[in-house]
Amino acid sequence: MKTLESLVRPNIWALEPYSCARDEFKGMTAHVFLDANENPFNDPINRYPDPLQEKLKERLAPLKGVRPSQMFLGNGSDEAIDLVYRIFCNPGEDNVVAIAPTYGMYKVCADINNVEYRSVPLTEGWQLDIQGLMNAVDTHTKVLWICSPNNPTGNDFPRETIHELLVSFEGIVVIDEAYSDFSTNQPFRNLLDNYPNLVVLNTFSKAWASAAIRLGMAFASEEIIGLFNKVKYPYNVNLLTQEKAMSLLADLATIDGWLAQIRREREHVLPALAELPIVLKVFPTDANFVLVKVTDANKIYHYLIEQGIVVRNRTRVQLCKDCLRITIGTRQENNELLGALRFFK
Ligand SMILES: *Cc1c(COP(=O)(O)O)cnc(C)c1O
Repeated sequence: MKTLESLVRPNIWALEPYSCARDEFKGMTAHVFLDANENPFNDPINRYPDPLQEKLKERLAPLKGVRPSQMFLGNGSDEAIDLVYRIFCNPGEDNVVAIAPTYGMYKVCADINNVEYRSVPLTEGWQLDIQGLMNAVDTHTKVLWICSPNNPTGNDFPRETIHELLVSFEGIVVIDEAYSDFSTNQPFRNLLDNYPNLVVLNTFSKAWASAAIRLGMAFASEEIIGLFNKVKYPYNVNLLTQEKAMSLLADLATIDGWLAQIRREREHVLPALAELPIVLKVFPTDANFVLVKVTDANKIYHYLIEQGIVVRNRTRVQLCKDCLRITIGTRQENNELLGALRFFK
């Protein structure tokens, strides 16, 4: 890996972050808080929340196999994705390399930040083209984006190929593991001590069934997390979200139950889809969705809408012509979908 200083934008490296009232006073002994111009009424939401979400990180760290100091919490993974650009990429000068097809936010955030986005197609069977990715890298490449399991293809990449990229690329490698809880492969998030250039993304939106509270996680070295904390909005995760996450974590058995049910449903839906005459291919999946190649994606998509069923039409995405991305739902939802598809003419 290049030195962290050479990878970070000079203005960010030199940045003196905003110091908020909750940063300056952290003691537990005070009982009169007249430091932050808060309103004394309407307890507890009258107070600014903990800017570093320390209680929540203490609770999450052992579950994720990281130390609290290796964790950033944000307003969805989307905040972490945007921060990666703002920390590492000089607008109009640096570039990033990513796979195609993949999650659309990496490109949107590149465009917003005026950073060149170089995409390298996956190979046959949706595998990483290691040589192609490394060929796309030049001296201005700061970040490599890998989503595994990948959205929208659904597959996890073999760990050895990701390892190869982590050791050959000298910049930051972001592995988005939004769907790793649905996979049987080991995640990379607890290997931070082996890879100083690794940033792993996780989210409360999928396996933890809490997309509405907007809570995303990034795991990286303490030095990289320090940069995230310096650049983020001071109070980026609100109190209601922090409290809701704590209550969710008090009942992990329920989450495990949901996960088991979704994996079971996946086993039910995949073969049923494969039997339909309109389905040309069901791509293997390690996620809570499946990419399906059909005879006519546009027609089938609009037919399903008429039946009140929404799936994601990916036909215009590179390499995904006539593909629909279908989320695994409850048994009843899945059966409604399968029933409708059986009647399609
Ligand atoms: C759904 C998804 C996320 C989650 O984003 P949030 O902002 O945390 O809701 C992240 N990455 C990928 C690849 C996704 O598909």
